[in-house]
Amino acid sequence: MINHDLHMHTTYCDGKNSPEEMVLSGIAKGLKVVGISGHGTTPFDSRYCMSEEKTKKYIEEIKELKIKYKDQITVLCGIEQDFYAGVPKYDFDYVIGSVHYVFKDGNYLPVDESSDVFQKNVSKYYNGDYIAFAEDYFKNVSEVITKTNADIIGHFDLVTKFNEGYKMFDETDLRYVKAWREAVDKLIPFNKPFEVNSGAISRGYRTEPYPSLPILEYIKRKGGRVILSSDSHSAENIAFRFNEIEQRLVDLMK
Ligand SMILES: [Zn+2]
Ligand SMILES: [Zn+2]
Repeated sequence: MINHDLHMHTTYCDGKNSPEEMVLSGIAKGLKVVGISGHGTTPFDSRYCMSEEKTKKYIEEIKELKIKYKDQITVLCGIEQDFYAGVPKYDFDYVIGSVHYVFKDGNYLPVDESSDVFQKNVSKYYNGDYIAFAEDYFKNVSEVITKTNADIIGHFDLVTKFNEGYKMFDETDLRYVKAWREAVDKLIPFNKPFEVNSGAISRGYRTEPYPSLPILEYIKRKGGRVILSSDSHSAENIAFRFNEIEQRLVDLMK
């Protein structure tokens, strides 16, 4: 059974619970390792991330929790670092590298803020061509390890967050497939795990984890590794659907 979850947010950024509440939930769910991964500072958009000041407090608080709960669980201090935020300034136990924006015509366009914002930006900056947006998105993803020093590749195909049932674009379109394949090909040599992320299921956006099944199959074919995480923004969603997804991954990756 998977006994670790390394992707979760707290009240230090856009989560609902304190780090201690997350740790206690991890213990209650029988985890051996819980990693908190607050959003690293993105100077151009302060809405979801930790400020520099908050990051210092975050590191201190997690250090205390490590000691307080050391006999019950291993607590790790991670960071989810956005592509445009660069390499983290502080020394974290691990870094999740994630692309949350595409920079276009002088603007940082959010990938996952809301369906409405996404649609409006694709219409305004990409003439309604969702796949052209996805091509720029995956160009960023292909460089996310070098940009952020990531140990884990976060939610590889976040660009499909609002695309359940292919309602915005066809994920079998060859341009789309080419875009994500090129990103996988560039990332594979780093030998860092791709995250299988159940966060969009727990928050009601998707019925399947990131990445999609065809992407997972391709990663497997290329010899890539995966790590399961919840990207939970509340204590009850830690390790969300891990048992069920783990079983499917075991079948897929064997
Ligand atoms: Zn993220
Ligand atoms: Zn996250």
